[in-house]
Amino acid sequence: MIESDARDLESELKAEIVRLNKVVEALMNRVEHSSTQHCSDFDQFQTTIMLENLVRARTEELEAALRENEKINRALQEAEEKFHRVLDQSLVGITMIIEDRFHYVNPKFAEIFDYEVNQLLTMGMMELIIDAEQSALREAMQKALNKDLEKINFIANAVRRNGQLITVEVSGSSATDIGGKPALIAVLADISERLRSERQVKALHEQLQYQAIHDPLTGLYNRLFLNENLERELLLAERQGYQVSVVMSDLDHFKMINDCYGHQAGDTVLKAFADIMKRHARASDLDCRYGGEEFFLVLPDTSQQIASERAESIRSALVAQPIAVAGRTIAVTASFGVATYPANGLSSAALIGAADKALYAAKDAGRNRVVSSPWQA
Ligand code: GH3
Ligand code: MG
Ligand code: MG
Repeated sequence: MIESDARDLESELKAEIVRLNKVVEALMNRVEHSSTQHCSDFDQFQTTIMLENLVRARTEELEAALRENEKINRALQEAEEKFHRVLDQSLVGITMIIEDRFHYVNPKFAEIFDYEVNQLLTMGMMELIIDAEQSALREAMQKALNKDLEKINFIANAVRRNGQLITVEVSGSSATDIGGKPALIAVLADISERLRSERQVKALHEQLQYQAIHDPLTGLYNRLFLNENLERELLLAERQGYQVSVVMSDLDHFKMINDCYGHQAGDTVLKAFADIMKRHARASDLDCRYGGEEFFLVLPDTSQQIASERAESIRSALVAQPIAVAGRTIAVTASFGVATYPANGLSSAALIGAADKALYAAKDAGRNRVVSSPWQA
């Protein structure tokens, strides 16, 4: 637009020089003609000099303007070349859309969609975006064209010429009038790879978070999670005024299972017991693997009586479910110790200690039983 204005100005200036020359020629003719009739040679001479000076001055002015105009023209051309180099080498896709059609696309834009620039110039944005997202896109573009929004910014899924699905982020667009028609200038980037990496990082992060608080063999919470949460559970219980019971359990003669059937059989037994614990846990309970063949259950808002009954049902479920290991089924039993906050301990350490004591009382009393911590006055 600016360049064509400069070209118009240049041809106008040239035309004026030609016109001026013609005017001077005509005037000279007239002077010559009239002088033969009325004026002296001296008058004629003076008029000629004056006219020549006038014409010379004006011609110099016009030529200077012409030179200035050429300079502007060159600068404009250089600026335009630079601008095109930037557009051609841009790492993001750039497009100008007029009446739903691509009026301009840079090479990167074409590369993103696996088309040639010329092919895209016969197409529109809707032909690239997946069907389900077209109406939202049309609405956003219309809003920008109506200048309801200064900028539009959206993420859409598109299909490349080779059929590959990609996710693009379109932004920074604004409506500008080009040749009287509203145009949309948009910058577009393929963010598929970025989204894929973000999803991978998120999945990895979730996996690490899971691994940090779970026992890999049984899938129960680990001791770290228990330590972090039991104290918090007790603070909550104090504030809300309810009891928290804990159950510590330990498989009986587990070393013998390992010794007789192998370590892998031992692992199978650990998993089977963990599954029974999971089946007996409520959503608010916290079931953990405390150590080798020791397990821990936190039962918020549960009295010692109820906790003892819950432990008893786990114990009997284990007895009722012989476990298949190394081609045979074996009977496994466990012992349980129950302690309750606040009666048997105010801190998590005190409560765990009380449950441990009760567990050893159960072992001493012959195993395969539940013992509750004695009430303290
Ligand atoms: P008690 O009835 O007195 O509890 O006797 P126990 O044999 O169960 O107890 P002990 O503490 O003597 O043995 C526990 C065994 O558990 C020893 C150890 O090798 C085994 N163990 C610890 N962790 C694992 C594990 O992850 N897998 C397997 N298979 N064995 C484990
Ligand atoms: Mg044991
Ligand atoms: Mg043990």
